[in-house]
Amino acid sequence: MRDFSYVRANSLDAARQAAALPGAMLLAGGTTLIDLAKCGVAEPETLVDIAHLKGLDRIEVNERGATIGALARMSHVADHADIKSRFPAVSEALWQAASAQIRNMATIGGNLMQRTRCPYFRDPANFPACNKREPGSGCSAIGGVTRGHAVLGISDACIAMYPGDLAVALVAFDAIVHLGERHIPVDDFFLLPGTTPDREHAIEPGEMITAIEIPGSASARRSTYLKIRDRQSYEFATASAAVIEFEPDGRTIRDLRVALGGVATKPWRARAVENALKGKVLEPDTVRAASLLAVEGSVDHGANHYKVELAPRVVARAIRKLGETA
Ligand code: FAD
Ligand code: SF4
Repeated sequence: MRDFSYVRANSLDAARQAAALPGAMLLAGGTTLIDLAKCGVAEPETLVDIAHLKGLDRIEVNERGATIGALARMSHVADHADIKSRFPAVSEALWQAASAQIRNMATIGGNLMQRTRCPYFRDPANFPACNKREPGSGCSAIGGVTRGHAVLGISDACIAMYPGDLAVALVAFDAIVHLGERHIPVDDFFLLPGTTPDREHAIEPGEMITAIEIPGSASARRSTYLKIRDRQSYEFATASAAVIEFEPDGRTIRDLRVALGGVATKPWRARAVENALKGKVLEPDTVRAASLLAVEGSVDHGANHYKVELAPRVVARAIRKLGETA
């Protein structure tokens, strides 16, 4: 780890000013950033500590929806009574993420901004080729071990998987990321790798996430998050699905939202599945056929082919699970 300056921000303006300095990085819970600094991936010149900013940890839920401050802890949001009852998929996604200790420390803003777990990205000493870390250097994963890599949204430059859980639920809820006065739909906040995999988010120097807004309606209560992983705790998703049903109407699906995790380079909205199921009766064969559309356009690299088969099953199971709660 190389030497860096430390700035403790006492106001939002001070934090933004410091964050605009060349080589500056924000520090919230530190559960990702410190690891990345230790392995030589993050090399901040200035660490801007935002953990003590007042008012950014608020969680407000009312008839218009929820506003969650960027510094709210994962465990507080997961356990918030109104989040659990109005936005179950958000609470479930957080409960199934990381460990109790990490959830107690980690923040919502930091969670959205977490970096990929691609092992080549995290090992600069042994794998200098990584377009995400060093633009133009190549990709060690393509042609390497790809079991954990993405099958959707990939490019010739990068096949790294977005590892977070919360963002998948937020994409299904059409949540909005607040960067101070600038607001961006969460689906647009995450960028596809294309030819610039080093640019992962639509955030500019000097900007920071201040809050997440989840639009709510009284009828949007039926939602769930299903996560499949190699072990049942303390593990990232091999495939996951967030499903929300709007205006539940007996066994007929009026409006459904589906998002996938663990299989794509960003939290992945499965609109083809949603469109195929609108107005349909919730029958196993219909759900199974529609769920196959979740991986439309997928490209695998051998070892991660299982994700192409797993993801539709996870979607179908999540939809059935939601039906059972009716
Ligand atoms: P930090 O480490 O402080 O920051 C992370 C990044 O976000 C940094 O780049 C920082 O500059 C930036 N940042 C922080 N706050 C802001 C802000 N307000 N605006 C803009 N940028 C900001 N996550 C899951 O979703 N599912 C899992 O299963 C899971 N398992 C994990 C297992 C382990 C062993 C570990 C270490 C982590 C795991 N995580 C998992 C990731 C964990 O959830 C993140 O480490 C955590 O949410 C990051 O939050 P933080 O506040 O500690 O962020
Ligand atoms: Fe780097 Fe992306 Fe290739 Fe992983 S998949 S080595 S993050 S360029």
